[in-house]
Amino acid sequence: MEYYKKYYINNIEKIVGSIRKIESREIAYIDFDGIMYRHIALSKGDFGEWLISQLPRDLYHSSSYYLFPDRPIEDKVWRGGDLIFDIDLDHIPTYTPNFIWLCNKCNAVFKKEASICEQCNSKTRKIHVPRMNDLEIAKKETFRLLDAIYKIMALPVDETQIYFSGARGYHVHIYSDVLTTIDTRTRIEIKDFITLDGFDIANMHYLNRTYIERIIGDIQKQRKEIYQYFNNSDINLVLSLYRSMNKIKMFREKLQRNRRLRNKINNYVREIYGIHIDGVVTTDISRLIRAPYSIHGKTGLIKKSVEYDSLDGFMPYRDAALYNEEVLVKVLYLPNIIWGEKEYEEAYDVEMKLPLSLAIFLVNRGLAYDTRRV
Ligand SMILES: [Zn+2]
Repeated sequence: MEYYKKYYINNIEKIVGSIRKIESREIAYIDFDGIMYRHIALSKGDFGEWLISQLPRDLYHSSSYYLFPDRPIEDKVWRGGDLIFDIDLDHIPTYTPNFIWLCNKCNAVFKKEASICEQCNSKTRKIHVPRMNDLEIAKKETFRLLDAIYKIMALPVDETQIYFSGARGYHVHIYSDVLTTIDTRTRIEIKDFITLDGFDIANMHYLNRTYIERIIGDIQKQRKEIYQYFNNSDINLVLSLYRSMNKIKMFREKLQRNRRLRNKINNYVREIYGIHIDGVVTTDISRLIRAPYSIHGKTGLIKKSVEYDSLDGFMPYRDAALYNEEVLVKVLYLPNIIWGEKEYEEAYDVEMKLPLSLAIFLVNRGLAYDTRRV
């Protein structure tokens, strides 16, 4: 709590300054008992005092602007909303989460599924543990997204803000006045264009031609994913499909006869060439989004803005972590991790001196307890 209070007192201006049109937003928060409060309206002037008195564990604002932000959703009167894209590790198919099983009694750690402790036969609990390079996967996907936003869709660079989400990904907020008033249907079209949801190779037009050509290129390059999605007979069928591409009737007939291949191609294109965002965040105009520069309650990290040119070198566990005075903490399991400027080796069941931000990160995950001042 003290950690939050100290941070918020010092950063009110930054938070208020980064919530555009704050008086038209719905403000919401979760307190330290885990209770959510919604439909709050605040002026720029009142926000700071409110923030310190409520001290939220998690702070949100609506992506939309309203005439009456404090009324129930059906009476708010919608006035537009930012276009937001959410990249989260959980939506990226190449990412597989890493877990440990921790004994409730003797604190033994198992890296393979073990519902019962092999040393004392007590029950274990399953805990998600980040790997060193997990967030690089999310960063790569963010670059793919930004590439599509800037180059293909020609959306405005100077009205875009990139944020580290505070946990497992990145948010891209677009504030352009041209886009804030687009309706849900148009937002769905933009989402479909980005994700390739609804892509069907059987609807032949220029976009689909491009993807057939890309698949052929992938076959020629022997890209490893090709063999995950297609067997040898599928590959022969794709090649023959490609040869019939200019005879549209024949092309369609081939796909109609072979729904299985059609589905395989569609899945391949969506998974390999689609950009993996959490689509609802882009399309749902009544959605809440974590407030910039607020603390993420589960990680203790900041939702921090990152300039495009700094994104490549951005390290969340260094650049979005807070006060790094050292504390004593009882660690159950510390994964190999770079935190701040320092690399920590794996550690098991030991009291350690760690930066406060890392101690909080571990405690919130159930990997440490009993934090004390040195
Ligand atoms: Zn045990």
